[in-house]
Amino acid sequence: MKIAIVGFGAAAIGFIERIKDSEHEIHVFEKSADIYSSSISGIRADGKLFVSKEMGGDIDIDLLLQKKLVDFYTSHIDSKNIETGTSFGNTGYYQEFYKKGFQPINADFYHIGTDQLKEVLFRIYENFKSNENIHFHFDYTVTTIERTNDQVKINGSEIFDIAVIAVGRSGHQLVKTIIKKSPKLILDNTKVDLGIRFELPDHIVEDLNREMYEFKIKYKSRTGFIVRTFCNNPSGFVVLEHYGDFTTVNGHAKLKEKSKNTNFAVLVTIQLTEPFNDPTGYGSHIAKMSNLLAGQEKVILQTYQNFKDSKRTKNLYRVHPTLPMENYILGDINLAFPRRIIESIIDFLEHLNEVIPGITNPDNLVIAPEIKFYSNKVSNDLFPNLKFIGDCSGHTRSIIYATAHGYMVAEELIRL
Ligand SMILES: Cc1cc2nc3c(=O)[nH]c(=O)nc-3n(C[C@H](O)[C@H](O)[C@H](O)COP(=O)(O)OP(=O)(O)OC[C@H]3O[C@@H](n4cnc5c(N)ncnc54)[C@H](O)[C@@H]3O)c2cc1C
Repeated sequence: MKIAIVGFGAAAIGFIERIKDSEHEIHVFEKSADIYSSSISGIRADGKLFVSKEMGGDIDIDLLLQKKLVDFYTSHIDSKNIETGTSFGNTGYYQEFYKKGFQPINADFYHIGTDQLKEVLFRIYENFKSNENIHFHFDYTVTTIERTNDQVKINGSEIFDIAVIAVGRSGHQLVKTIIKKSPKLILDNTKVDLGIRFELPDHIVEDLNREMYEFKIKYKSRTGFIVRTFCNNPSGFVVLEHYGDFTTVNGHAKLKEKSKNTNFAVLVTIQLTEPFNDPTGYGSHIAKMSNLLAGQEKVILQTYQNFKDSKRTKNLYRVHPTLPMENYILGDINLAFPRRIIESIIDFLEHLNEVIPGITNPDNLVIAPEIKFYSNKVSNDLFPNLKFIGDCSGHTRSIIYATAHGYMVAEELIRL
């Protein structure tokens, strides 16, 4: 078969790794200019690989396959210099969090680091490229997919037996175009995670960071919303994320360069019912409101005490942000976020302070908006010659889950 893969990210890597030794002719279309491009693949930042049944997506992925894929990625690093650990392997911590109403999430993690990821991606590409049946087409943005029962046409010209869409979140425009033609592909579309990035001195969370590096917990707040931590970065950096018409905040950690602060996201899951059907619209409006207050392409930074009291922050005290000054304005997040979201975050942090004293120090920092969009969940059963893998399918949200999804879909095709 002649197979087109649209996008070269984590999901495509899993797919190709599984199918590369078959007879199939594989063509990869990637919009980035080349393998060195800063826009290629979501796996270019941070690179924390998780092995867990409890996070990363909503498909069931065997733990052995997850670990196998971690080994696949780390086998491409010469130094073998990676940070590893287990979240809540220590039952003492598990019980402490549980007692205070938190749901601790079990996971093994392997941190490659932003700096080493480029090397990993490049080596995987070099390896794939050496297979005669695999052809890469960079600087090729796929804008249309026309499908009949026998063939799939890409951009009105290239013809394939099967198209595998692996465009991640940055490819939402293409998925939207496909869904518009075939609305029956959509399985679900109601969720968005809204919240803040929290930044505090390393020493407050030192024990926790040493014990598990990444602490993932969920909590049902008194507002009824589920609140969770996401992407903990010991000695890390807060960064901006630009979405074209709005800007949000994110965090990452490097293996070599370290700061004196830890940052993690506190996210509130908003899942609404009919007639609501535009979680992306809802999230992006809140982001735009924050940017409107902060100034073009900036985010709002506030001390925790001012966040709680709904007062504009005018001065910082002991905690200094890792986000460069030109990227934020000192302000009041309460002017941009609905009350129920703010209350959920405060309730979460006040409870967390009971397990980790110092979390609610008045001068710790709150930075907003942080938003995690869920892609529409789409079906892979409707059309045999059109498959969606990784984050653009709405079924995954992490490197390992996206890679495994690609791997598993390739396995199904090989069996046909
Ligand atoms: C800042 C940041 C940090 C993250 N850190 C982590 C982490 O530490 N650990 C973790 O597990 N997950 C992390 N994630 C999530 C993780 O990156 C994704 O879950 C994963 O990369 C999804 O893989 P994917 O293949 O579905 O999409 P991607 O890896 O995003 O790949 C999609 C590819 O498709 C290309 N593309 C898009 N549209 C088109 C088009 N129309 N035509 C051709 N090509 C197209 C893109 O250029 C891209 O190369 C992070 C995400 C971000 C944004």
